[in-house]
Amino acid sequence: MASTETIEQVKERIEELDPAEAGEELSKEGVALVDTREPNEYMESHIDGAELVRPVDVAERIEEVVPDHSQRVILYCASGNRSARAADQLRELGYENAASVRGGINAWEAAGLPVITPEGMSPEQRMRYSRHTLLPEVGVEGQLKMLNAKVLLVGAGGLGAPAALYLGAAGIGTLGLVDDDEVDESNLQRQVIHNTERVGQPKTESARKAIEALNPDVEVVEHRTRLDATNIIDIISDYDVIVDGADNFPTRYLLNDASVRLRKPVVSASILAFDGQVSTFVPFEGPCYRCLYPTPPPAELAPSCGAAGVLGVMAGVMGLLQANEVIKLVAGIGEPLIGRLLLYDSLGTRFTELKVRRDPDCPICGENAPEIPESEMGKFPDYELFCAG
Ligand SMILES: [Zn+2]
Repeated sequence: MASTETIEQVKERIEELDPAEAGEELSKEGVALVDTREPNEYMESHIDGAELVRPVDVAERIEEVVPDHSQRVILYCASGNRSARAADQLRELGYENAASVRGGINAWEAAGLPVITPEGMSPEQRMRYSRHTLLPEVGVEGQLKMLNAKVLLVGAGGLGAPAALYLGAAGIGTLGLVDDDEVDESNLQRQVIHNTERVGQPKTESARKAIEALNPDVEVVEHRTRLDATNIIDIISDYDVIVDGADNFPTRYLLNDASVRLRKPVVSASILAFDGQVSTFVPFEGPCYRCLYPTPPPAELAPSCGAAGVLGVMAGVMGLLQANEVIKLVAGIGEPLIGRLLLYDSLGTRFTELKVRRDPDCPICGENAPEIPESEMGKFPDYELFCAG
């Protein structure tokens, strides 16, 4: 196959079909249909039943897609040139019965023949999320679930920063951020959503700017406050999944108790020095945070991240494990970390998994936990006192 050859010369050697003829043949059994374009083109629209084989992969992959050299193979591309060259390649490889669709899918569509397109996504979105939608487990359906999901990040700090960046990039449609802090220079070693220019700005604002610049599909909701017993029900009830990146125990217990009441899944992680842990709490399906830790540790054993040392990348690793859990929950794929506590030791690069069971005596989710009447829904004990004690 000389490279100086014109496409007309190639086409003289192969069989070409008009779209109507190809459609007629495809209505019969035993005809293989091959799309010889790039994945993003395939995503935008393709003919039902077509297998994607990129032009550069034809020689290598065609045997796998069409093992029988005598089988009828119909190839198409956008306008009929790439598929003509592919049909010629197949001829050289010993395929006896390959044909190319004249005018490609453009002519096919112009002839009013049907194509498969991802409904509900704009052309820009099809392009942006093509590496997700190409995964059969995610697909257009999974991406649409993400675009319609509302995820709340408690804390726009070490864990929240990487989680928010990747969840934003992934196209989670609404990202809520709860934080009442401002960006400090000492945050920048790990809180990668902020930057030097934005030191002194509220963290929610700085994070919003970063997410909006990354992905205009995401609506960022700033909750420039601290979660407390009076506002938590209002704030979390709007969201589908909550990411717990709180840096203190009172907030973690409050968030747990409120999310169990509202039956909201919480993906929780914590980091200290070179160690991290992560788990997914789905109320009444698995244990809650309090089944795992019935009471908070004494204050002297629970240094807040603000004051203690932490390896910056640890926040990235654990925050992204949280983001991964969120995407699985939203898209309904894989096996969430329910009832499993994953520990990560970064110095040894070791992951350890512990089984965690629901505590039948848990005061929040246990069998004998009191039913909470509507009037008591937003009332919680004073966790600051409880934790200090
Ligand atoms: Zn519990």
